[in-house]
Amino acid sequence: MQCPQCKSSNIRKDGHQDGKQRWKCKDCCRIFRDSYESRGYHPQVKKFCLKMYLNGLGFRAIERITGIHYTA
Ligand SMILES: [Zn+2]
Repeated sequence: MQCPQCKSSNIRKDGHQDGKQRWKCKDCCRIFRDSYESRGYHPQVKKFCLKMYLNGLGFRAIERITGIHYTA
């Protein structure tokens, strides 16, 4: 585990939230959760979006299909 903000591993447990471990960075005081790193879309999903885009679908259509706001 490391801080998503400053990448420090100087973190400590800070209780639980929504059944997930919560952490606090001792360096920048940022509070984050276990699931933080899994945020963002899976590369496969991005690939899928890109494929649709290359097949002539606009970003809006892709958004409608996937429910993902695709910006990358
Ligand atoms: Zn930090």
